[in-house]
Amino acid sequence: MHRMPPPDTDAPVTILGAGIVGLCTALSLLERGVPVQIIDRGEPGQETSMGNAGVVSPWSIVPQSLPGIWRKIPGQLFGHGRPISIHPKVVARMIPWGARFLRQGREADVRRVSDAMSQMCGPSIELYRRHLQGTGHDGLLRDSSYVHAFRDGSRANLTDLGYRIRLEKGAEIELVGRDRLAEIEPELSDDFEAAVVIKGQARVRSPGRLGRVLAEKARRLGANFKQADVTGLQRKDGGWAIRSAGESLEAHRLVVCLGAWSPGLLEWTKLNIPLMVERGYHVEFSDPGIEINNSVMDVDAKVVASSMEGGVRVAGQAEFAPIDAPPDGRRKDRLVKIAKAAFRDLQTDRPSFWMGRRPSFPDGLPMLGDVPDHQGLFLNFGHAHYGLMMAPKSGDLIAQLICGEQIACKIDDFSPCRFCRMPAKPDAA
Ligand SMILES: Cc1cc2nc3c(=O)[nH]c(=O)nc-3n(C[C@H](O)[C@H](O)[C@H](O)COP(=O)(O)OP(=O)(O)OC[C@H]3O[C@@H](n4cnc5c(N)ncnc54)[C@H](O)[C@@H]3O)c2cc1C
Repeated sequence: MHRMPPPDTDAPVTILGAGIVGLCTALSLLERGVPVQIIDRGEPGQETSMGNAGVVSPWSIVPQSLPGIWRKIPGQLFGHGRPISIHPKVVARMIPWGARFLRQGREADVRRVSDAMSQMCGPSIELYRRHLQGTGHDGLLRDSSYVHAFRDGSRANLTDLGYRIRLEKGAEIELVGRDRLAEIEPELSDDFEAAVVIKGQARVRSPGRLGRVLAEKARRLGANFKQADVTGLQRKDGGWAIRSAGESLEAHRLVVCLGAWSPGLLEWTKLNIPLMVERGYHVEFSDPGIEINNSVMDVDAKVVASSMEGGVRVAGQAEFAPIDAPPDGRRKDRLVKIAKAAFRDLQTDRPSFWMGRRPSFPDGLPMLGDVPDHQGLFLNFGHAHYGLMMAPKSGDLIAQLICGEQIACKIDDFSPCRFCRMPAKPDAA
């Protein structure tokens, strides 16, 4: 059990960042009667939170780093489709990050991280249903399965650690061959020999619209939205001064939910924040000519496809790069090719192309909690591949901390201080 000192005042909480994490944090505070101000330089929910694959799953509880992953990485860096790439400018920062990531692949660590992920992802569907209540947009969240599709059927193996962990924790999983797969997803190419079908999930039909709907609900509950580009934070009179282009704002309590941009505003703290910007891409086909029934992962290409309100979206890839490097346009053709190979009748004319920035820690967990020695400063960022599904629970945990409620989960796994014994901060990219 973790209990914070009781809150000192009823003063508003200022949330920096109106991505899905900031919005869910705001809703959890507003539900508890805490006044909220949200600052973002853009429109709520329209950055990374807009272009993701829409998977909301209580069973996405297996980290990326698994036993033996080091054997697969060269193929993913240099092989067909190059799902992973590293920009030359971040190679130096990748070395300590990658070493820690690979160390996390030991079974004991995978199991510890998986327990932490379960706390975050377990209640995701139920909490989204609660946040969508009263908005008239409950249909944004659809029941779904997660179809992991394999071209080489011998690789679809329920004895793999990731599937074993899910089964041990109660997931309903079916291993299916080509014929059954064709019933579940008739549009999928028959190159796929087998699939692992994880049941009991949900998918968001438009992550961008979800952001707008939740922002509207927060507004109705009294949240004050302010558009400003935040450039710095500073202690002032027991509270915080927030510098932004042209003006200085004040806050009593602050929650930093700036996703991949968060470390840039926290350099003055003594925290070690080894966060890499792991960029991902999507292509979306507005007139696809097909419908996909579930979230479908092409396991070889590391992309997830699903039918969204705007058409068929194919999202994924992992590109470690400086935060402001221009998108790699070659990925558009690569993703279109992957999409066409996976769904034979997909109409691939005039796809839209998008790049977003996952904020990724080497252990795959977000940084969540209060910052020692900086009263009133809370962090909630670093949700990597899982920010859409982890946002409601991590927002709830921050609201519980701020309100001094008892927390019935192991919040130390997400501690802002957990990397303080890692090698010194690498240079910012
Ligand atoms: C290709 C891809 C597919 C994905 N698929 C899934 C999925 O299926 N399921 C899942 O759970 N997750 C998925 N993710 C991950 C998920 O999208 C992210 O983890 C999540 O969106 C992070 O949300 P956030 O609120 O932390 O960040 P963001 O959405 O990036 O929000 C940060 C906000 O901070 C604002 N901001 C930044 N700097 C400043 C500043 N200086 N001043 C003011 N405002 C500022 C930005 O404008 C932005 O609105 C995917 C990611 C990618 C890239």
